[in-house]
Amino acid sequence: MSRATCATIHLDALRHNLNTLRQKAPHSRVMAVVKADGYGHGLERVARALSDADAFGVAALADAERLRAAGHRQRIVLLSGPDEAVDIAVLRDLNVDAVIHHPSQLAWLEHAAAGPPLRVWLKIDTGMGRLGFPLAEAVDIHRRLRNCPAVQKDIVCMTHFARSDEFGESMTHEQIQRFDACLQGVPGERSLANSAAVIGWPASHSNWIRPGGALYGLSSVDGRSGTDLGLRPAMTLSTRLIADKRIEAGNSVGYGAGFVAQRSMRIGIAAIGYGDGYPRLAGTGTPILVNGRRTALVGRVSMDLLALDLSDMPEARVGDPVVAWGEGLPIEEVAARAGTIGYELACGITRRVRFQEVDSR
Ligand SMILES: *Cc1c(COP(=O)(O)O)cnc(C)c1O
Repeated sequence: MSRATCATIHLDALRHNLNTLRQKAPHSRVMAVVKADGYGHGLERVARALSDADAFGVAALADAERLRAAGHRQRIVLLSGPDEAVDIAVLRDLNVDAVIHHPSQLAWLEHAAAGPPLRVWLKIDTGMGRLGFPLAEAVDIHRRLRNCPAVQKDIVCMTHFARSDEFGESMTHEQIQRFDACLQGVPGERSLANSAAVIGWPASHSNWIRPGGALYGLSSVDGRSGTDLGLRPAMTLSTRLIADKRIEAGNSVGYGAGFVAQRSMRIGIAAIGYGDGYPRLAGTGTPILVNGRRTALVGRVSMDLLALDLSDMPEARVGDPVVAWGEGLPIEEVAARAGTIGYELACGITRRVRFQEVDSR
């Protein structure tokens, strides 16, 4: 039999989340962000489920190629734009929009060979400190882009938030104000909001929202799961029990012998580990479901296996289903135990894990 570890992708959850975000921002169009192989859920599969999106956002030109090859005809936006001058021709061939955030990219456009003009999103740094032109240069760059024959006239201005997942924090409000003030009188559409801003900062919705994580039911809001935010998890990571045993008080479990039983315990062994993308840093106490009921990890996670406490589950047997995260167990709870966010866990599922999709439409 094949290894039991399996990532089940719920296509109906993806659609539900897209609709939920549309309801939160009813006057905005949606760029569904599908970078990193659809946040680890599978690019083609995710794009098929979200084919109603007004645009797709990708981080790599190769992903744009895959979306066109799969037949998607809507706008695709390359979120970090061309990496070198030759990318301009590929963007044209694929009819992909380019984010322009750096003077080198502007120069490639200004020196581009004659050809069909590209659609451009002008990225402005309002405080994220990553990609984007400084506020003071934005109007001038916008003018140069408008005068550039390689660029279509309907330029979208965009910025990205550093702290939109902190709903009470003032920085997002300040970034919105800087963006608006700097672009007074500049024509064209605007785009600011990532997932957390769609949910927590209605003033940022504008013409285009750019949710990623929320589409997959992921939350970046500290202490709140995707479910808490009205989303449904699009991934369930599951496996099975492959062994059980009793250990007596004073005996240890796993590498490093870091967990020592204080009493006689029944231990289960599940066929999943960091070789599948389950975080090694999630140790003793991390929640996990056996037969849909919550119990906890015991000891260190190994490459292929982890141990869990079956002491209160006398009915559990070898072969029973184990859920690492998904429906009934928010990925955010496991991530918090590993000192990270659900986004990283979803992106980190490894190639040996079998993917299957379900659709309960
Ligand atoms: C990744 C990304 C997003 C989506 O962010 P989420 O937090 O996943 O919603 C939006 N905009 C840009 C520019 C991005 O790089």
